[in-house]
Amino acid sequence: MGLQATPRVLDRVVDLRRACDGARLNGGRVAFVPTMGALHAGHLALVTEAKRRAPFVVVSIFVNPIQFGPREDFGAYPRDLGADLAALSPWGVDAVFAPPAEELYAQDESTRVRVGSLSDPLCGAVRPGHFEGVATVVAKLFAVVGECVAIFGRKDYQQWLVVRRMVRDLLWPVEVVGHPIVRESDGVAMSSRNRYLSAGERLRARALVQGLDAAVHAYDSGERRARRLESIARGPIERAASSIDYVEARDPETLAAIEGIIGPGGALLAIACRIGGTRLIDNVVLGEDPPPLSPR
Ligand code: AMP
Repeated sequence: MGLQATPRVLDRVVDLRRACDGARLNGGRVAFVPTMGALHAGHLALVTEAKRRAPFVVVSIFVNPIQFGPREDFGAYPRDLGADLAALSPWGVDAVFAPPAEELYAQDESTRVRVGSLSDPLCGAVRPGHFEGVATVVAKLFAVVGECVAIFGRKDYQQWLVVRRMVRDLLWPVEVVGHPIVRESDGVAMSSRNRYLSAGERLRARALVQGLDAAVHAYDSGERRARRLESIARGPIERAASSIDYVEARDPETLAAIEGIIGPGGALLAIACRIGGTRLIDNVVLGEDPPPLSPR
């Protein structure tokens, strides 16, 4: 891979719209990777997938204020545009959209996008308004980028489903792709928030993937009871986490609760917990994903 120039940075809606319209006029498809910056190899895998799917790749970097709750880490969220641009340089990104908040939110803005039912359980139950904030900003970004293929990570599985449903319901000309979770060498899911962890907490963070791995092995050995699989996953997490928001098996398409036995469609097994003060999430789809610690 040759060294390439720092990508072009746009901070105005009109400029990004013009750039994307221009790419399509030239016969190209546009691929779009929305992020909040603090880029790591997980984000870069999404960029690689974008590059594979379209000649013109846009990455947005925007820490979206309205998806954070009042006691969440909006102020502390890591921001380093210079480092992000350096990380993107080798990947042939055509434009980085890094707008100031005023560019996306007029002072008297009053519109929200709410995606029913999929936004309610799991993170939606613990972070009220979070998915409304996500859907609203993604709707704005799609309105600027226009027709495209958009790449999302399945680390934020519920977010991926919410965005997919919004696109379908609102008839956006967007193909939404869900990229598999990218993990560190010890299995921990990559996350911008991992940099909040102390060395000891980083070791404790392995409990999430250990719990998921144990549950996948149990599922692959024939266990189908949802409560039993949840409790297998909970074991290591209970020992390591400061608090647990949820460890839940749910329908992988609708996120409906699973009362007894997991059916032929498999199940999403999703975790959110705190290690020290840092909230981490992870998941697997039972019946689909390989064991995360020893991929098939
Ligand atoms: P964020 O910057 O955390 O909002 O993430 C931007 C996009 O990158 C989202 O679609 C995330 O799901 C995705 N992403 C973040 N971490 C990972 C990961 N470890 N593996 C795959 N996708 C990820």
